[in-house]
Amino acid sequence: MRKHTMGLLAMAAATTLTLSACGGAEVGGEPDGEETAAGGDTIRIGIKYDQPGLGLQDGETFTGFDTDVARYVANELGYSEDQIEWVETISANRETALQNDEVDMIFATYSINDERKELIDFAGPYFVAGQDLLVAADNTDITGPEDLEGKNLCSVTGSTSAENIKNDHAEGVQLVERPGYADCVTALASGAVDAVTTDDIILAGLAATEQNAGKFKVVGAPFSEERYGVGLPDGSTDTCEEVNAAITKMIEDGTWETLVAANTEGADYTANADLNPPEPDACA
Ligand code: GLU
Repeated sequence: MRKHTMGLLAMAAATTLTLSACGGAEVGGEPDGEETAAGGDTIRIGIKYDQPGLGLQDGETFTGFDTDVARYVANELGYSEDQIEWVETISANRETALQNDEVDMIFATYSINDERKELIDFAGPYFVAGQDLLVAADNTDITGPEDLEGKNLCSVTGSTSAENIKNDHAEGVQLVERPGYADCVTALASGAVDAVTTDDIILAGLAATEQNAGKFKVVGAPFSEERYGVGLPDGSTDTCEEVNAAITKMIEDGTWETLVAANTEGADYTANADLNPPEPDACA
């Protein structure tokens, strides 16, 4: 019985394949991104779930600057908040989530870079952060990446933060990779690592939680420019234009400033005024 059912399924699958091979675009479908983003019933938005002030899940509630920017942009594209389906996209899974049509767009402290642009498209940037270090509040010997020799450092797999260390500051550094930055902060709290590295705004948000209050400090010497873009599937030029228009409007009508202030309140953080607010890049 079981075998029989599987045989039928396999036949059905084979038929579908044959049909789509003959039927071309109609059966195979258009690239989903353009279509869904332009007016489907819901929009699937990838965010972080564990970055306070940026993308944080608290039960059914999602808070943070990235989620607020996503709400604003989605609204401009014709989606109300209840049409947003939030999806967790950890750093290492962002490109594949877009390539496999698991999300329509990503707002997840997602730095624009050439390597990623080979695989996906970016709208934005809508914010510029800088890579920095988080250490214990009483630490005095780590003041920048040059002090990391012989130290254990935690960062996240698939992030530009880990890449930058491997490329430019690897000498004598023991890099420990975790799935998320909250995991790194746990390692820092236990003494398993001496420092955590990623974007300053992420570190400031993690240091400011009730649980972490007073325990850590951000070194405050940023050593990269992280331009946060909106991740889109490859070939989303039209959607990119729409998202960029929404970002420009958000900056011009004062919402951007309000959202930055609201989401960094209580954190020891000031956005780099020389780089913010940024102007969106031209869409490819
Ligand atoms: N902005 C960096 C990146 O896109 C680090 C933060 C993150 O992992 O989300 O990789």
